[in-house]
Amino acid sequence: MSRTYVITGSASGIGQATADKLKSLGQKVIGIDIHNADVIADLSTPQGRIDAAKKTIEISKNSIDAVIACAGLAHPTAKTVSVNYFGVTEFLNEILPTLTKSKTPRVVITSSVASIMPNSTELVDAMCANDEAKAVAIAQSLVDAAAGGEQLIYASTKRAISRWIRQQCLKPQWAAAGIPINAVGPAIVETPMVDQLIKTPEEREGLAKLVPMPLNGFMEPETVAALLIWLTGIQNTHVTGQTIYIDGGFERIVRGEDIWAWKK
Ligand code: NAD
Repeated sequence: MSRTYVITGSASGIGQATADKLKSLGQKVIGIDIHNADVIADLSTPQGRIDAAKKTIEISKNSIDAVIACAGLAHPTAKTVSVNYFGVTEFLNEILPTLTKSKTPRVVITSSVASIMPNSTELVDAMCANDEAKAVAIAQSLVDAAAGGEQLIYASTKRAISRWIRQQCLKPQWAAAGIPINAVGPAIVETPMVDQLIKTPEEREGLAKLVPMPLNGFMEPETVAALLIWLTGIQNTHVTGQTIYIDGGFERIVRGEDIWAWKK
């Protein structure tokens, strides 16, 4: 039976590959993006998120079964905080009442392996406290300082969104409503976001050294799409609160073998 999937960031990369695959499987897809989408919206602003949700609910005729949040920026700017964190959380809050009516509601968000890389604790905490003004101000101060701290912004947004999922997943509006909420944590995916960084063989080699992926190297967006589709499919009845790293082994390199060391 056909289900209705809402995909943010559907105009490019992982979101586009996921939309294409779902459509080929006969599913209904409502794409949201700042260009080339069913719903044109700017998820970096509070009004943009409200408008996006309103229009999406209208087009769906009040029937949404899954949200796949892929819209994102990798720029070392304050706007990245607004899109990658609040553009997900605030948008989902608006969609939740409609999603809850589905018999098989599901949510998945694209986090990143950046979630386990160096970040700004202050910035992560401001996002997790749901304080957009404070988080944007902290990010802007990192940019203004021009001391390299702005490079922590992207990783901070991904740490915060992976934490938000764990903060939310057991709440009645998710768990008791039967809604699994998870993230995927890709390493390097060959999309427009990354293509500009690997134009030459030297740049490609440099990025591969920075983010080693012993199992099969860099990925195509379709590889991540398959996991997003599984996590939002009816078969996912019990996976929740997780960031599933899809990374050719990079997370294993960073966190080591004994991730159970937190409780000896
Ligand atoms: P992409 O740049 O190809 O696609 C991102 C999409 O988000 C674009 O279509 C863009 O227009 C949209 N977007 C950006 N700002 C927006 C806004 N304000 N409102 C609405 N839409 C907006 O990038 P991608 O590689 O497909 O990335 C998708 C997600 O996966 C991102 O969240 C990214 O951080 C994450 N990710 C990517 C990689 C990678 O290596 N490509 C790795 C880990 C995680």
